Amino acid sequence: MRKIVIAGNWKMYKTQKESSEFLQGFMPQLEKTPANREVVLCVPFTDLSVMSTSLHGSRIQLGAQNVHWEDNGAYTGEISGGMLTELGIRYVIIGHSERRQYFGETDETVNQRLKAAQRHGLIPILCVGETKQQRDKGETESIISNQLAKDLVEVDEQNLVIAYEPIWAIGTGDTCESTEANRVIGLIRSQLKVADVPIQYGGSVKSNNIDEIMAQPEIDGALVGGASLEADSFGRIVNYH
Ligand code: PEP
Repeated sequence: MRKIVIAGNWKMYKTQKESSEFLQGFMPQLEKTPANREVVLCVPFTDLSVMSTSLHGSRIQLGAQNVHWEDNGAYTGEISGGMLTELGIRYVIIGHSERRQYFGETDETVNQRLKAAQRHGLIPILCVGETKQQRDKGETESIISNQLAKDLVEVDEQNLVIAYEPIWAIGTGDTCESTEANRVIGLIRSQLKVADVPIQYGGSVKSNNIDEIMAQPEIDGALVGGASLEADSFGRIVNYH
């Protein structure tokens, strides 16, 4: 039985005050959420400490949005796995397309970060996906296959979540057809050694398309950006039918 993981990616949004306001609106909605759904909030580093305290004993798991590959050192601006686990953080997004596009992440650094996360007992959410241009050229399968081959070298698939995030669908409102997302996720699964790795879909997931996405047999959850910022809309997403 594969785990269902619904994760919000807050990107660079929400101060500590705003994160507390979000929780006030969001927590009551979880009363209706089936127990077998893992609910994760991947928040800015500055929100982790206060949220970890507020969420103590709750069913929400906290995630970070990146982790460095070394345990400590002269790496200005970076955060290590030990710093995250000390705060009770469980998940970490690695290889998000915004990190690859704007911050020079490569498959090699993604691989190093994945291994460091697992060394510290964090569960990485590895993001893979193609650009619009690559899709139009018929390269979707080869791009993703190549990312997986490089990113997953010596990575433990038992403690891993993968998010298929077509880059053209992120933040655009242009969701990938659910059947197409299902097809690509099936291909991703066929390249893994472990059968029950949860594989999410991400890219303009909203409360009005989550039911259709989650009805697909290969899709085990969602990585949600914009629609996770508002308590009501993320509440409707985690309570999909
Ligand atoms: C994301 O940030 O990973 C994402 C999928 O964003 P959005 O849901 O806003 O497209």
